[in-house]
Amino acid sequence: MSAEELINRWDNYLGKLKERYFEILKQAEEPLNEVIENLQYDNVIIINIKTALHNQTVEQLYKKAEEGWYKMQDEISKAGLFTQINGQRNKMEIFRGWMETDFIKFEVNLFARAARKILDNVKKHIDEKKIHRCTQCAAELPINIYSFMAVNIKCDSCGAVNTYQPDDRIRALEYYVIEPLADEYAIQPKLSRFKDKNAEQEYFKMYYTYLMDNVPEKREAYKRTLDERLNNPFFKM
Ligand SMILES: [Zn+2]
Repeated sequence: MSAEELINRWDNYLGKLKERYFEILKQAEEPLNEVIENLQYDNVIIINIKTALHNQTVEQLYKKAEEGWYKMQDEISKAGLFTQINGQRNKMEIFRGWMETDFIKFEVNLFARAARKILDNVKKHIDEKKIHRCTQCAAELPINIYSFMAVNIKCDSCGAVNTYQPDDRIRALEYYVIEPLADEYAIQPKLSRFKDKNAEQEYFKMYYTYLMDNVPEKREAYKRTLDERLNNPFFKM
């Protein structure tokens, strides 16, 4: 086989794998819409589906690419085209990088859609108008029901300290809703972070700023985590 024929065959093979990648995600589309429609207050099922799809696409298709490459390498060697080896193998690594990046886009979008649905459900089922009263004197307490941790509130009328425990569904919004939306907000640097340290830093800044803005009670803790990440020696190399 000529060098040209061999290379064409290899390009075709990788092209087919790319088509298969799109096909798998396309087939998942409708069932996934239904799953999202039926979500309640958590995204556990989405995590499982995502893991399965990642396996079927990124992992399995890369394995197939490797299998193809072993044959290709053999043929190239037999034909004495040794100068082609690195360049042709590189196409497989480019394919892997492309798949990984595309899957991140898919995944972030999927979790953001799930997050919006969960938020919608919580808002529908939480009584925002409910009046919270002091356990001592029954005066109305100024409670922010969208609190993510227990808060102590001093009653203005009698001075008693009341502990307010937020609804579990609201507490869980931090993990099932706000984190996925932070990821969506920071998608651009997230996609380039593995190749670019500046993008990695930018990703952390955007991601944690979003969390600080939307979970004000934990602002300090998130700020500390952000600072730790940004001061990681990795960035100073
Ligand atoms: Zn009171």
